[in-house]
Amino acid sequence: MRVIDVTTHTVGTPWRELNFVELTTDTGLRGVGEARMVNKTDTLVACINEIGGRYVLGMDPFDVERLQWRVHWEDYARAGEVTQTALACFDQACHDLMGQELGVPVWKLLGGQFRQRVPSYANGWYQGDRNPESFATMVKNVVGRGYRALKVDPFGAATAELSQAQLQLSADIIGAIRAEVGPDVQIMIEMHGRFTAATALRVAEALEQYRPEWIEEPVPPYYPAAMKQVRAGTNLAIATGERAHTLADFREFFEQGTVDFVQADLTHFGGFTGMRKLAGWAEAYGLLMAPHNVTGPVGTAANLHFAIACGNYKILEHFNDFADPWVFDLVEGAPAVDPADGCFALPTAPGLGVRLNHEAIAARPRTRVHFNLMAEGWETRAAAPMPPVE
Ligand SMILES: [Mg+2]
Repeated sequence: MRVIDVTTHTVGTPWRELNFVELTTDTGLRGVGEARMVNKTDTLVACINEIGGRYVLGMDPFDVERLQWRVHWEDYARAGEVTQTALACFDQACHDLMGQELGVPVWKLLGGQFRQRVPSYANGWYQGDRNPESFATMVKNVVGRGYRALKVDPFGAATAELSQAQLQLSADIIGAIRAEVGPDVQIMIEMHGRFTAATALRVAEALEQYRPEWIEEPVPPYYPAAMKQVRAGTNLAIATGERAHTLADFREFFEQGTVDFVQADLTHFGGFTGMRKLAGWAEAYGLLMAPHNVTGPVGTAANLHFAIACGNYKILEHFNDFADPWVFDLVEGAPAVDPADGCFALPTAPGLGVRLNHEAIAARPRTRVHFNLMAEGWETRAAAPMPPVE
């Protein structure tokens, strides 16, 4: 089996662009992968085309280790965010092809079935006014859909520092959410790398009373000394990794003990091939995987297969119930969170189990959006309407 064609399709939403890569084989199979490249869609598509022509056309889709090696070694330039995302699209599509060829779901190729259900947490659900009452109202929709965990960045457009008034407002928002959802729903605090270590610690101290599950990217991930300072100053668990793209990027976090939940993004980390190595290495440090996931239905399906087979796994992020719910229609077989327990069910179809609906994709052209997390009102995501509880 050889790859004879590589095609890309980009779908626009009000706040993200979803890129789908399809590989066609000489045996007539089609495999698919997905990534959302934050604010660099053109760059990603160019990289996909360059790598696709150089290494993917003509390859046997089973040879994913070799593909990774070639991209890392034969391109010589250091692999980072864009390269690892392009590679991830190909790696997902290759695994989809392997599964289809063998007639098994991808998780069978990743170590088999470790778990039956994959817990998920909601994101993108707070698209209204930034005050405690508004967040308490919006969060009803999250628990109403069965989610037992949710993430929130209540800090507005803060960078580096946070005024006392803004700190109080942010804490009041988290307090209102906790009061609404009760003690058992997990609340993840997203800091988006906004703060200095000193500010992050002030924030952590103010929020500790609400028992957050983790604080995420308290400082930018490229400041390991600041991460050490945060670790030394708080009892809260720390999650990070969505902006780490190679194994080497995690060395300081693991060796310095500054991360509890490893948030590498399968679609920015070379796909299954990269993530399996990372999960194995994280296991040696007693760490759990909690992958970042901002993709539509294909990337979410890939994450689901990884989660089914991965032993040291905590939870999967999910946006699609709250931000752009129509992305479910871009494929046949989109994975969905079960309202009964807030989990994804075991996928059973061969490969990834999702097939692109090209008509639906063509109906959603690019938006060329700049999603600016440092601008006031970013959390409204251009005020995409929230779907009602069904
Ligand atoms: Mg994050």
